[in-house]
Amino acid sequence: QKQILLAERPSGKPTAETFRYTEVPVPSPESGQVLIRTLYLSVDPYMRGRMNEGKSYVAPFELNQPISGGVVGEIVEANGSKLKKGDFVIGNLPWQEYSVAGENEVRQIDPSLAPIQAYLGILGMPGLTAYFGLLDIGKPKEGETVVVSGAAGAVGSIVGQLAKIKGARVVGIAGSDEKISYLIDELGFDAAINYKTQNVGKALEEACPNGVDVYYDNVGGEISEAVHKLLNKFARIPVCGAISTYNSDGKDVGPRIESTLIKSSVLMQGFVVGDFSSRFSEGARELGGWLKEGRLKYEETIVEGFENIPQAFLGLFEGTNLGKQLVKVADP
Ligand code: NDP
Repeated sequence: QKQILLAERPSGKPTAETFRYTEVPVPSPESGQVLIRTLYLSVDPYMRGRMNEGKSYVAPFELNQPISGGVVGEIVEANGSKLKKGDFVIGNLPWQEYSVAGENEVRQIDPSLAPIQAYLGILGMPGLTAYFGLLDIGKPKEGETVVVSGAAGAVGSIVGQLAKIKGARVVGIAGSDEKISYLIDELGFDAAINYKTQNVGKALEEACPNGVDVYYDNVGGEISEAVHKLLNKFARIPVCGAISTYNSDGKDVGPRIESTLIKSSVLMQGFVVGDFSSRFSEGARELGGWLKEGRLKYEETIVEGFENIPQAFLGLFEGTNLGKQLVKVADP
């Protein structure tokens, strides 16, 4: 079976040299373990941070070891008491076609509730990140203005829809005209700005005549600097990510915190979705409910084939994805 290792720690943007393909035997499950066939695999921006040395909120990937991340798979051999052959599970597993895991290291998912890959997106980590970051930290109120950057991605597209459900005016920032139309026409955003072709500061002023009450920040850098200038008194900023800086060459760009936060008594809070792990079932239930009622929509960009995982990952930094970026490795 095929496997992908971290071959070297990238400086700046990862390249083809960052990854190495190998062939290894399919492992056998011991007692209490299952053998899982990888069906869908998630590529995520946070994986870039794990390619660096040094501890962050998750340990770095090890050199010459398989890269790992969210996987949805099917059990092909079961050696435990709980899971059986044919069950679908989600877990944090290596980038390989088959993996062995302890029964309790993976979680069974229900294919009758949603397509299995949705557990890597709206019903999984990105959905929960949107839910807790926006509702617990951003706390949007009816009639307020919510701005979200990275708006057409996995997290951002859910954030904007949740803000609409809460009765807010929603403005998205994203990197192509196709994404702008999607946000307005499909997801019901009130306005959307293409940061690659528009003057973000000016466009924001027009789109937010009453200022900004919640800024859900997925990107950091210059886009955030522009949003900070429009923050209202007692605005809230859930700091979810800073993808514009992940491949950074060390140049310091971003909001001038002193001048914007103090004068408007703004609350800015970083978080990781794991902070809310004790409430994941609440989040999944709420998101699942809105999905069933048709009040939440989601999009996926699916790259086919195990060998294309690195390309799918690198596409996140070029914005080639609309909604959640996935790799389909095999058919169920
Ligand atoms: P997305 O699906 O949003 O994919 C990344 C998107 O980022 C791309 O589609 C691209 O869209 C945009 N982007 C890439 N480079 C830049 C840039 N230089 N400036 C502005 N935008 C850029 O990913 P996710 O939804 O999975 O993640 C979104 C953010 O949330 C990331 O920062 C991620 O690290 C963070 N995150 C944080 C979590 C937490 O627990 N705190 C958990 C999950 C995610 P475009 O075409 O618009 O440029």
